[in-house]
Amino acid sequence: MREEILNLKNEALAQIMDVVSFDDLENLKISYLGRKGKINDFIKKIGELPQTDKKEIGNLINDSKKVIEVTLAKKKEGLTSSLLSKKEWFDLTIPGNKTSAGHFHPQTTVLNEILDIFKYLGYQIADGPEIEKDYYNFEVLNFPPEHPARDAQQTMFFDVSNTSFKEGQVIPRTHTSAMQGRVMEASKPPLRVIVPGRCFRYEQVDASHGVEFWQVEGFVVDKAVHLTDLFGTIEFVLKSLFGQSAKIKFATTFFPFVEPGVDAYLECTVCDGRGCTFCKQTGWSEIMPAGMIHPNVLSKSKIDSKIWNGFAFAIGLSRVVSLRYQIDDLRVLHTPDLRILKQF
Ligand SMILES: [Zn+2]
Repeated sequence: MREEILNLKNEALAQIMDVVSFDDLENLKISYLGRKGKINDFIKKIGELPQTDKKEIGNLINDSKKVIEVTLAKKKEGLTSSLLSKKEWFDLTIPGNKTSAGHFHPQTTVLNEILDIFKYLGYQIADGPEIEKDYYNFEVLNFPPEHPARDAQQTMFFDVSNTSFKEGQVIPRTHTSAMQGRVMEASKPPLRVIVPGRCFRYEQVDASHGVEFWQVEGFVVDKAVHLTDLFGTIEFVLKSLFGQSAKIKFATTFFPFVEPGVDAYLECTVCDGRGCTFCKQTGWSEIMPAGMIHPNVLSKSKIDSKIWNGFAFAIGLSRVVSLRYQIDDLRVLHTPDLRILKQF
């Protein structure tokens, strides 16, 4: 029996050395040390031995059991560390995967720049509803009902059937100038305010026009404001955006809510003034319609036009982005194609 026990021990140690998986190791452990295992088979036989051999064989079984236990534990450690070192191994020379970082849409970048310029000039930023009452979009801005100047705004209308609204009572705002009346009603002059936001018009969509566009409206109400203050502001803003060498010109125009009305033009940066589809071959792009606030607008909002006056202007944001990045068709700005947007 002594020999059988020594053989069993040696057989166990040899098998443990050859094991390559945790599962096989566990199975070996059960087959030797388990309740119905081979070691227990010997222990059960001790009772049948002569009294003189019992102690010696018992000790031999115990020693063999301990050796198997220790060898199993060592093998388990060995398997664990070889598994870990396999996982940590990597080739330093393989190029890594590049993660692409996102960035702001060019329109957001330019809008943030514009807001910074006006914050520097002491303007406050106001936000207003995109669906606006006719009163704020037109009437308070000196567009009486049936006034022909309303036609130029190419207003879109809602289907108001089955609602309590009258036709045209609420509309998608055609300009953020609609906030002038709201701000003037809610606060007292002096005022320096800009209103960035989306506007909507029933436009023929082309390289420089869209049905939905962003505008940054701005206005100042103070005492003794002059047209030259307006010119100075426009020049400062455009040169901050397009550099000191930007060429600017002014022309007179008509808007009901200003008197006199002016249009600021920037020499087209897409074609450097030579003429292109973006500037309709004129070499100039209308960029900031503006003017001195009409006294009727102030009076409608209960501001005494004998004491206060001011100027107002609007910036077409998409137009600025196109001129800034020399994009000859602003429709590309509103495509979800990342191949285009990644270029900026
Ligand atoms: Zn051009």
